[in-house]
Amino acid sequence: MTTTAFWDDLLVGDELAHLATEPAREARTAPLPEQLQPALSEALARRGIEELYAHQAEAYAAARTGGNVIVTTGTASGKTLAFNLPVLDALSADRHARALYLYPTKALSQDQARSLAELGVPGLRAAIYDGDTPTERRRQIRGWANLVLTNPDMLHVGVLPRHDLWGDFLHNLRFVVVDEAHVYRGVFGSHVGNVLRRLRRLARIYGAEPQFLLASATIANPGELARALTGEDATTVEDDAAPRAERTVALWNPPLLDAELGLRASALGEASRLLAALAGRGLRTICFAKSRKSAELIHRFACDRLDSATAARLAPYRAGYTPQQRRELERRLVEGELLGVTSTDALELGIDIGDLDCAISVGFPGTVASLRQQWGRAGRRGHGLAILVASEDALDQYFMREPPALLERRVEAAILDHANPRVLDGHVAAAAFEAPVDETDTATLGPEALERAPHVPELRHTPRGWVWAGKDAPAPRIPLRSTSPDAFLVVDASTGDVLGLAERERAYSTVHEGAVYLHLGRQYVVRELDLHARRALVEPFDGDWYTQAKKETTTAIEEPLRVERRLGLELSFGRASVTEQVVAYQKKAIADGSTLDTVPLDLPPTTFDTEAVWFVPRPHQLEGLEAMPLLLSSLHAAEHSLIALLPLWAMCDRWDIGGLSTNHHLDTGAPTVFVYDGHAGGVGIAQRGFAQFEGWVADTVRLLEGCPCERGCPSCVQSPKCGNLNEFLDKAGALTLLTRMSNSG
Ligand SMILES: [Zn+2]
Ligand SMILES: [Zn+2]
Repeated sequence: MTTTAFWDDLLVGDELAHLATEPAREARTAPLPEQLQPALSEALARRGIEELYAHQAEAYAAARTGGNVIVTTGTASGKTLAFNLPVLDALSADRHARALYLYPTKALSQDQARSLAELGVPGLRAAIYDGDTPTERRRQIRGWANLVLTNPDMLHVGVLPRHDLWGDFLHNLRFVVVDEAHVYRGVFGSHVGNVLRRLRRLARIYGAEPQFLLASATIANPGELARALTGEDATTVEDDAAPRAERTVALWNPPLLDAELGLRASALGEASRLLAALAGRGLRTICFAKSRKSAELIHRFACDRLDSATAARLAPYRAGYTPQQRRELERRLVEGELLGVTSTDALELGIDIGDLDCAISVGFPGTVASLRQQWGRAGRRGHGLAILVASEDALDQYFMREPPALLERRVEAAILDHANPRVLDGHVAAAAFEAPVDETDTATLGPEALERAPHVPELRHTPRGWVWAGKDAPAPRIPLRSTSPDAFLVVDASTGDVLGLAERERAYSTVHEGAVYLHLGRQYVVRELDLHARRALVEPFDGDWYTQAKKETTTAIEEPLRVERRLGLELSFGRASVTEQVVAYQKKAIADGSTLDTVPLDLPPTTFDTEAVWFVPRPHQLEGLEAMPLLLSSLHAAEHSLIALLPLWAMCDRWDIGGLSTNHHLDTGAPTVFVYDGHAGGVGIAQRGFAQFEGWVADTVRLLEGCPCERGCPSCVQSPKCGNLNEFLDKAGALTLLTRMSNSG
């Protein structure tokens, strides 16, 4: 049994920004429902399950009424059983009934298939159907399995376009389970929202109305997410009744080395110190870093601090392990043979590597949901310790000064926009390929699909509705992780593997020649960007610098959709076009961010339409800031700090957001700040900023007020993605403006 005495003496000093204890909680249980099929009850009893947590019973009851359900209880609270129960019950009662389970990754499907098999429910015939399934097995699975596990990509290109092969399955489809639903946000979520609508439509054509059961990490808007993804309402189950051990939570801020410049000691160094100290006391500890390089450095530094026998019990953990290797690692951890594991957050998605004592997150992983998932590994049996070691990033530093923003408020919303035409059009084409689209499909595909149909090339209007008049199936041409069909492929030249996609409007700034590109925490350098073949050739890279593109950006207002008087000024949300030209890039040292070299680039400008929120400060709000260049510097700094904090409200990455500030905008005729969705067409980020403007600005004021630097630093107004390389930033001016705005609210 762990006690706090193990680490009490470690958690002291100026680095400790906040210390809290999350109390233990007793389980609230409910009996197994009486209606449960006897075969299922017996199978559960054999596994030692004789009662449920209250939320599992609640989810079962909600599903029994025939509606959709979303469960958003905490990590390790038994969400899986909450959706398995109604499904397995229905499959036991009706041998024709079928269920479809969607997982975002193959590894998660495998984990789930294994735990379903372990339940040993008679009559359950579960099978994985994904890109790895051999062709000869596929036919057999379609005919035999009553529970199919797959991923959205396979559903999109492999199942829906070939629905004639799945007719019997679709006709009997009772349940669709969408696990890890919070992952389906932004561009990916907008696509998946359409894939699920296509699934609903085809099921209806075959005579079925499946129920959707979703499970998500804790977010601000579970009901809204369920509706956005499926097009239907869902009952939210969020009252977590699972037991919890006491947990100590520490926010750890590396010491300030230079207050004036806002320079701090390295987060990697601090993390390795904590890891070595905890492992040195025999505590099983996992440490999450953002990149593989960082994870390896932390591992090395920690080993250097320990005697060789203890150091031998630390290991780095990499993405790409097979299930066998993962289980071997888990076994060594559980048996205490291993004490410390360092990993990139590629591991984060629900994969269970056992009950550990401590979890250290190095740098805020981007969402509170991810952080909670990382922390959830600490102390599942005894008292656990969870630590966030802050990086210099503005959001990290904000949390160090405003712990309740991280630990108590639930503001982060998973957002998507299935109706973005850049996303929707491809799915209208795919739907028309699957079956003619007419007015009756409004109920499943949504009214927007019918509105877009006339604009989709290769669709023809016939008496049967809109039909596909093109040659090949359209679905394979629609990548689910991009808003442009003409995205660039990122290819590892050393292996030929496709690592990812870069949308055209982002390719020039992220995969230009010489750019350092990160994939699953690994570094690559771009050897060649082929504009015609739309391909970036990269190779593994071990250098200690990163790159930042310098670009020139202009925006034009296309159409204001909403204009409101907010915070004493005119706040607009609407469609805007953004033109960017990447003109150079800088190489910067990972160690201290210093500039090593500036390299000019010759790339064409790109223009894309997106959604933006923009505002024109009133003269009295700019009083004293009117002189140039102070005016521009103040607006620019305000724009950066607003962008830094928007991910707190809208689950996204700072790289998903763009901005522009100008002392005179052609369309408004006045000083203007724009914050826009970085994805063509927009996925709801700017819209969320518009909806939450007051809270967003108030958070930003607190960020600027609290930063100890004198004239602006990476923890407040500087941005790692600024196209002007952080020139012309005035922290005091930004604070003056935003404070005046906030006070007008
Ligand atoms: Zn600062
Ligand atoms: Zn900038």
